[in-house]
Amino acid sequence: MHVYADNAATTKMSQTAIDAMLPYFDKVYGNPSSLHSVGQEAKEALDAARETVAECLGCEPREIIFTSGGSEADNQAIVSAARYGAKKNKKHIISTAFEHHAVLHTLNKLEKEGFEVTYLDVRNNHNITAQQVKDAIRPDTCLVTTMYANNEIGSILPIAEIGAICKEAGVPFHTDAVQAVGHLHINVKEENIDMLSLSGHKFHGPKGVGALYVRRGFPLVNVIEGGAQERGKRAGTENLAAICGMAAALKDACSHMDENMARVAAMRDKLIAGLSQIPHSALNGDPVNRLPGNVSFCFEGIEGESLLLLLDAKGVCASSGSACTSGSLDPSHVLLAIGRVHDVAHGSLRLSLSEYNTDEEIDHILKAVPEVVQYLRNMSPVWRDLQSGKRQYIL
Ligand SMILES: *Cc1c(COP(=O)(O)O)cnc(C)c1O
Repeated sequence: MHVYADNAATTKMSQTAIDAMLPYFDKVYGNPSSLHSVGQEAKEALDAARETVAECLGCEPREIIFTSGGSEADNQAIVSAARYGAKKNKKHIISTAFEHHAVLHTLNKLEKEGFEVTYLDVRNNHNITAQQVKDAIRPDTCLVTTMYANNEIGSILPIAEIGAICKEAGVPFHTDAVQAVGHLHINVKEENIDMLSLSGHKFHGPKGVGALYVRRGFPLVNVIEGGAQERGKRAGTENLAAICGMAAALKDACSHMDENMARVAAMRDKLIAGLSQIPHSALNGDPVNRLPGNVSFCFEGIEGESLLLLLDAKGVCASSGSACTSGSLDPSHVLLAIGRVHDVAHGSLRLSLSEYNTDEEIDHILKAVPEVVQYLRNMSPVWRDLQSGKRQYIL
């Protein structure tokens, strides 16, 4: 059996999204900026895609800028707010300790330029509260940027409450909603979000395409300079096929949202209940406010990398945390941020599900993981020391 349980890293494209892309390679191949009929046909498709995305988020089409993905959208949103703040001598930013690297590395760059960043603590409930944001706001705060839902441990943040607080304080609010769009009900106006990043490949659309929602009137600065595409805010000929594929995938996801959420969450809960039976294990992430597809555990006394390789041999594709940090020996910054010590953080497993998974696959995972954990523990010197009492269990 082959089980793909790494949907937080990327998803397979839906047939709907593939079909939506195909005409734009050789039939509607014009440049949307060209004035002739071939170009105008492409322009119409671009406008229609923008309307679809706007409708799914509850905003106006003119508030959507297409980008190369979630990372670019995050960079542009954060840099824009920083530049705007600096003009008014406001150089303080509020974020969280468990953001995606697209946000964290952009913030690190700004810190080197003299911005001060408050990273909210996420050890309590593996989440933040809106009160933490409220308490951190200062007169010189120019941006609050918190993710909508965490890609490694699945915690869903109190976005509407944070939005209300930011609105009241007059502080721009950006959210990296890459894990949430297409998976959770979102309305940027009701939630008082000023900027939101999304990415096509996290909801069965194509890779290399995303979007930034920007509240009308917010002064965006360009990350990519050049032509006047995207209202002059993002240069470069539009990747029309990808944009149309993403819009189709998003429409599909939004129109089946409730049924997908219910089915995926039921599989998630079965996995969590089953894997919790493994001794000396711990669930990572908010147990209540949690992405429908996220299962994240730490198992004491094992190495996550070996776990992944052995699971792969049993047909299960999973991850130890973020695809972006695999390949490095450092444990995930997210697991450290929620308070897992290094040894425990190394023994992590993330299973991220989608509506394409089946109950049979969940049963297969529930058989494979305990077997592999036991096998690795039997070979582990650390586990031997834990069992003999030479070392104390943490979990
Ligand atoms: C995947 C992901 C990104 C990056 O999106 P890309 O389109 O791959 O650049 C950013 N933030 C989060 C939370 C993600 O899960």
